[in-house]
Amino acid sequence: MPRPIEAVIHVDALAHNLRRVRAATPDARVWAVVKADAYGHGIERAFAGLRGADGFALLDLTEAERLRALDWRGPVLLLEGAFEPRDLELCSRLDLWHVVHCAQQIDWLAAHKTQSPHRVFLKMNSGMNRLGFRPEAFRSAWVRLNALPQVGEVSLMTHFSDADGARGVDHQMAAFDAATHDLTGERSVSNSAATLRHGAALRSDWVRAGIVAYGSAPDFPDHDTAHWQLRPAMTLRTRLIAVQHLAKGDTVGYGSAFTAPAPMRIGIAACGYADGYPRHAGTGTPVLVEGTRTGTVGRVSMDMLAVDLTPVPQADTGSEVTLWGEGAAGSRLPIDEVARAAGTIGYELMCALAPRVHVRVAE
Ligand SMILES: *Cc1c(COP(=O)(O)O)cnc(C)c1O
Repeated sequence: MPRPIEAVIHVDALAHNLRRVRAATPDARVWAVVKADAYGHGIERAFAGLRGADGFALLDLTEAERLRALDWRGPVLLLEGAFEPRDLELCSRLDLWHVVHCAQQIDWLAAHKTQSPHRVFLKMNSGMNRLGFRPEAFRSAWVRLNALPQVGEVSLMTHFSDADGARGVDHQMAAFDAATHDLTGERSVSNSAATLRHGAALRSDWVRAGIVAYGSAPDFPDHDTAHWQLRPAMTLRTRLIAVQHLAKGDTVGYGSAFTAPAPMRIGIAACGYADGYPRHAGTGTPVLVEGTRTGTVGRVSMDMLAVDLTPVPQADTGSEVTLWGEGAAGSRLPIDEVARAAGTIGYELMCALAPRVHVRVAE
């Protein structure tokens, strides 16, 4: 028998979450962001649930090739654009749209030989200070691109640093609007958090929906998945492979990080940090055993973790353990809660699902 851990990808949840994006911004077209192998879900698996999107956005050229191999003929956007001049050849061949965020990428385009003009998304650095032209340099980049025979339609884009938090998007939107108000071109500004929180108020002809599609709340703990009516697209589950009866004062695991305050039963689940479960998740990180919520005890080790069985006295070796996602009898454990207990965000946990975990697709 294989080790009992598995990840399940819920194709219907992906489609559901995409509908939530459309409801939040009915007039926009939606990029399903599938970078990092669809946030760890697998591009080929996620495609089945996300094919209703208007386009797919990602970074990696090999991932773009995989989308074309799935026979996706619609738009594909490279969010960081070309990394070297010859990437533009692949853009021509596979009809990939690409971001232009720096002058060097314009130089490469000017030297590129192509039959068909490229669709580009010119990116502004409106305050994130990662990629893009500063507002005062944006117009000349736009003029230069529009003059190139290698370039067809030019769209305008920026990215928010605080769409999920208190600072919000207004300061960046003001910078973007001021520098682009008289420039033609479609606009793409919103990520998941901006789409859900500021949806219709922002002019974004194309929204870029990443985390929301996978069923994690982009602004947790301000709001949770129940508030946004999202469904988890990934479940990580395993089984108990042992049960221990502790006496008062017994300790659990490496470093004896947990000491039993009273006699108790614990279960040993076949999941550890080598499966992608966060090692920094301390005692009390939520977990479902047979659909009942309980918590971990002690340190997470490479292949195992321990769970308190006090609330689930009927649990035994073989009992189902849900680390995140859908549990028994309609129960649910949002990945965001596990991430928070480990001092991180749902994004990181999804992306860190380890290759040794077998993945199954639930239709
Ligand atoms: C990853 C990414 C997104 C998606 O962000 P989410 O918070 O997952 O919605 C959008 N735009 C850009 C430029 C990105 O790199």
